[in-house]
Amino acid sequence: GIEFRNVSFTYPNAKKPTLKNINLFIKAGDNIALVGENGSGKTTFVKLLCRLYDPTEGEILIDGVNIKEFSLKDLYESLGVIFQDFMKYEATVAENIGYGNIKNLTKGKKIEESAKKSGAHEFITDLENVYKTHLGKIIKDEGTELSVGQWQKVALARAFFKDAQIMVLDEPTAAVDAKAEYELFRKFEHLTKEKTTVLISHRFSTVRMADKIVVLENGKITESGSHIELLRKRGRYSQLFNLQAKGYK
Ligand code: ADP
Repeated sequence: GIEFRNVSFTYPNAKKPTLKNINLFIKAGDNIALVGENGSGKTTFVKLLCRLYDPTEGEILIDGVNIKEFSLKDLYESLGVIFQDFMKYEATVAENIGYGNIKNLTKGKKIEESAKKSGAHEFITDLENVYKTHLGKIIKDEGTELSVGQWQKVALARAFFKDAQIMVLDEPTAAVDAKAEYELFRKFEHLTKEKTTVLISHRFSTVRMADKIVVLENGKITESGSHIELLRKRGRYSQLFNLQAKGYK
């Protein structure tokens, strides 16, 4: 599993810490969701896990080993990450997915399977040159521009293609509508059974599916537990959940 052991973090030149004394164990194979208002530290948590920064205090362990002891190459092989500002490559659809794992770039069947998992396959089959369609218009005038939601599905397919043990999704579906996100994650739950996933989402219809929900407020974990446990607790999570649910009634 992944363990954050008393992790605190202050950005270089920042006066106050962004994360404070984070203690969290994520069991291998579990799906966890991080929730909290903007600025509560969710993305920073993910950045530390990916070693874009190292904790100012405390340590992060994977299977009991401090992540600083892994080579970056090994760490990055085990992590599949999609950030909010996911990459769009000026390349074909197949390459955009295949860049998730350069070693397998030419495995067309696997690329297609990944696109099916992410829900991208459907719109790809409508493109003129299907998987060979050039995406983006910067180098090729006749290139195809996708909608944000479609790019996100391509990015998600790239993460599936990588087949990493740990999947980190930082609001990967913000541009997809709520129903599409819900369906994607229902599928996702099934597809990532063997994997550990860390999801950041503002949509409680998705968050509630996680094995464990962790609530961050001002850089601290204030609650954690399953959807049902947290609703019963009637704390911050239940407040936020009901607030959003009201909007849908
Ligand atoms: P969330 O993902 O929950 O919205 P973030 O982790 O992105 O929150 O940000 C948490 C806090 O850290 C915010 O107050 C933000 O301003 C600050 N922060 C984020 N990135 C940097 C940075 N590169 N340098 C300094 N402060 C940062």
